Amino acid sequence: MFKLSLSTLLLLLSAEAALGFIPAGVSSKPSVRLGASSSSSSSDDLVDCLVLGGGISGSTLAHNLNKNGVDVVLAEARDYLGGNVKSHRDDEGFLWEEGPNSFATQPSIVRIAYELGISDQLVFADESLPPWVNHNGKLHPLPKGQGGKGPAGQIELVSGQNGVLKFAFVGDLLSWPGTIRAGIGAFLGHAPPPEGKEETIREWVTRVLGEEVFLRCIDPFVSGVYAGNPETLAIKASLSKIRRIEDIAYSIGWNKFGALFYGGLKRQIELTKERKADPPAPEWPEFEYGNPGSFREGLATLPNAIAKDLGVGDDQKIRLEHKTTKIEKKTNDDGSDYYEATFDTPKGTKTIKTKTIVSTMPAHCISDILEPVMEESKEIFESIRKDIDRVGVYYPPVVACTVAYPKKSFKDVELPNGFGNLQDLPGFGSLNPRSEGVRTLGTLWSSSLFPGRAPKDYNLLLNYIGGSRDVGLADLSEEEIVAEVDKGCRQVLLKEDAPPAKVIGIKIWPTAIPQYELGHLPIMEKLEKAEAKIPGLWVCGNYRTGVAFPDCVTFGYEKAKEVKSFLAAQQGQVSSPEKEEKKVTVQASAPAQTEAKSKEEEKKVEVSTTDVDNVVEPTIDESKEVAERKIPFFMTEKVVKVPEKVKSKGYI
Ligand SMILES: Cc1cc2nc3c(=O)[nH]c(=O)nc-3n(C[C@H](O)[C@H](O)[C@H](O)COP(=O)(O)OP(=O)(O)OC[C@H]3O[C@@H](n4cnc5c(N)ncnc54)[C@H](O)[C@@H]3O)c2cc1C
Repeated sequence: MFKLSLSTLLLLLSAEAALGFIPAGVSSKPSVRLGASSSSSSSDDLVDCLVLGGGISGSTLAHNLNKNGVDVVLAEARDYLGGNVKSHRDDEGFLWEEGPNSFATQPSIVRIAYELGISDQLVFADESLPPWVNHNGKLHPLPKGQGGKGPAGQIELVSGQNGVLKFAFVGDLLSWPGTIRAGIGAFLGHAPPPEGKEETIREWVTRVLGEEVFLRCIDPFVSGVYAGNPETLAIKASLSKIRRIEDIAYSIGWNKFGALFYGGLKRQIELTKERKADPPAPEWPEFEYGNPGSFREGLATLPNAIAKDLGVGDDQKIRLEHKTTKIEKKTNDDGSDYYEATFDTPKGTKTIKTKTIVSTMPAHCISDILEPVMEESKEIFESIRKDIDRVGVYYPPVVACTVAYPKKSFKDVELPNGFGNLQDLPGFGSLNPRSEGVRTLGTLWSSSLFPGRAPKDYNLLLNYIGGSRDVGLADLSEEEIVAEVDKGCRQVLLKEDAPPAKVIGIKIWPTAIPQYELGHLPIMEKLEKAEAKIPGLWVCGNYRTGVAFPDCVTFGYEKAKEVKSFLAAQQGQVSSPEKEEKKVTVQASAPAQTEAKSKEEEKKVEVSTTDVDNVVEPTIDESKEVAERKIPFFMTEKVVKVPEKVKSKGYI
């Protein structure tokens, strides 16, 4: 939701605008048992790759596989492609989203739009529009640079019209002590990370930038991105690119106290080089990295175009209303193996045979489906984490409620930093820290972001409400939810006499966004090991490779290459590979590692495929720099204090 605004919060955030991707897990698998064609009777009805789940991850993967010449079938349980991406337009001229509202533009998105012939429908927001934070009855702009412009963007983020300096010295979101504390962490240094302990987002931000930055900037942001609880979300799993800036900061020889700013700057320089080395194709439309984007008729334009391109129907590549119930591994008479997936469909039970499978179904519904083929499935997807009271990967409920009000009913106030009148909604949206007593997590100012979203006299607002800290929301009726949303809009944006909300659309997602909480990475590591034992099967999705829309699109691009080379290796296979000592490269595992890593930071360990059970994965923190981290003389605490609970007037 407010992923994009992350880049505005601190100096490090400019790196966030570069959502890159390296698939977690085994980068190439041993091609061992799947025979490509030794049984002619069965190979005739074998597809090369079966993709399960047709959200953005699955549909973009199917597109890329097809483009690479792989014979692909995608099976989706619902009657449409797109998963939680759904856009609508009505006769009055409102266009709204039921799921994600926008993406932080990345090359993978522009590339696929170009390939599908929809790049002329891409729309981008005005990059300078800030997210606003509601605090003490006022809206405060978060600093905003031009994230995609490398070091120049970093400097702009510091000293621009809505830069960090203005935020610190003129703005009043942070108190003076809060500003000084954040400045020390950013420019001088902070306590080093605690040893042997996974930090939550709250602990990390408080240690590095102080509690006030956490409460007023990061807490609402985390609600906006994950609908999550920063006291259970693990920083390394959920905000890995931000967390990594700290490691980069420490890697600068003289920066012994890990001051974050210099890490952010170094990362920006790296990013600029990486982008220069791998520039966008000249035929693509121009774009700024990280800039909020969508399509003229909404995000569903992308899956709709994929459905049209691949074809939908029982003899086509896209099979809708195919709910996977089971995945099995079977053996032909000639000894070659294949996979068979079973589906519930409106026409009864069906099966599809395939050489390879990629699951992109959500983690909360796959343990039974996978069990016949992955014996550790239940242990992984139903693992209990007592300390945070979770079973498996948690998906809290979130409601997307879109309402409209006449422009005149918005408060007639001038906003700071020359952004103009609130009635024009000059911004990305408004975030509500949990301490402000507004139940809505964040309100996106949809009609300000992209053209043609509302008739000209109206402002259109997409409100996200619910999440990990307000699960009770799912028990409310639609009327009650609308009443809460309307109340929130009045608290923050509207005049007292504003008319009732014009409800444009409401969508309740009972299991919305996977939470990368404490213990998430070890679960993913177990999955990676279990998966490595089943060549030709990949178990993926936004719970593993990143929740943001661009993460899912980039996954679709990268995973297609991996599947293709797996199939190619199969075809070229001459001797029995089970007897061969193939090498597999295992990367430090994490959804955390969905970003492009600089070469020297990639820690790779070579293991024998026969040894895959005993892989010891390195962790990113086991670097030389860790040992050299110093406790700043101006910080007394050796171990980070667990901060006090937020005193909430809200719904924690
Ligand atoms: C309310 C909301 C707001 C968001 N806002 C943003 C935003 O503004 N920006 C952003 O970048 N990201 C946002 N996100 C995150 C992003 O949209 C998602 O992470 C992404 O769309 C997930 O895509 P996916 O394909 O991995 O998963 P999904 O969309 O969940 O797709 C999984 C698919 O698997 C199917 N499936 C399930 N079970 C079976 C079965 N048994 N057999 C076959 N198919 C099955 C499902 O029907 C579904 O279509 C938001 C998410 C939500 C929910």
